[in-house]
Amino acid sequence: MREFEGRTALVTGAARGIGRAIAEALAGRGAAVACVDLTAEGAGAAAAACAALGTGSSSFAADVSKSEACDAAVKACIEAHGRLDVLVNCAGITRDGLLMRMSDGDFMKVLDINLAGTFYMTRAATRPMMKQRSGRIVNIASVIGVKGNAGQANYAASKGGVIALTKSTAWELASRGVTVNAVAPGYIATEMTAVLPEEARTAMLARIPLGRPGTPADVAGAVLFLASDAASYVTGQVLVVDGGMIG
Ligand code: NAP
Repeated sequence: MREFEGRTALVTGAARGIGRAIAEALAGRGAAVACVDLTAEGAGAAAAACAALGTGSSSFAADVSKSEACDAAVKACIEAHGRLDVLVNCAGITRDGLLMRMSDGDFMKVLDINLAGTFYMTRAATRPMMKQRSGRIVNIASVIGVKGNAGQANYAASKGGVIALTKSTAWELASRGVTVNAVAPGYIATEMTAVLPEEARTAMLARIPLGRPGTPADVAGAVLFLASDAASYVTGQVLVVDGGMIG
């Protein structure tokens, strides 16, 4: 069913992993997708994959940790597609290490991309969505932002911040018909988790009741729900997609 026909979605971090799966899932259901990523090549490849699914698509290179770049990406999306209905903030990084040894740079870099980037994109998208009196914002958080994790103080702070930002923005935009929700994935098999040591992956797997790592498509399914008409009465929520890991 092409339930997103006539709607435009902007997805950050669309070049690969979870963002790519979300962009393609939205395109497969009829949305025009504006693919945003750090490089023009990465964003362009994602847009080409979306176009192959039969919808309009566009690509923009933007570093989400720069507010002007986020403003420009949203402006370009509106110019290309005439509207913005769904914003998915998926771009994110890790710079793991024990807090005692974590540099200022590694702490701030993760906060700048994961948290400030989500704020900049959300602020930029708010004006057109409020004008339309409709919109869906879905932020990709993490179970680490809910329960914390040794070696990920920066990442946990950024994702916990994304959850708090989601809840506050939901309060602010509800009267304008814009919903704001977060998806908190657990252990998802992507390039981000492929770099973890084998023991860490085995230990994580042992804590997952469903007995397997999640796939980017598992996360995309939750995003599709929150972006769809079926979720029109859902806002300020965190949907955990972790195979039962945090219970
Ligand atoms: P990934 O495979 O590393 O993909 C991340 C994407 O974000 C890449 O395309 C990357 O671009 C892009 N990106 C990084 N910094 C950016 C910036 N400053 N501006 C614009 N784009 C940027 O990661 P993933 O596993 O798909 O994760 C996607 C999201 O899910 C992240 O927010 C992550 O924290 C969250 N998450 C992942 C997991 C998991 O287990 N994988 C679990 C919970 C939450 P380049 O290719 O150019 O680097």
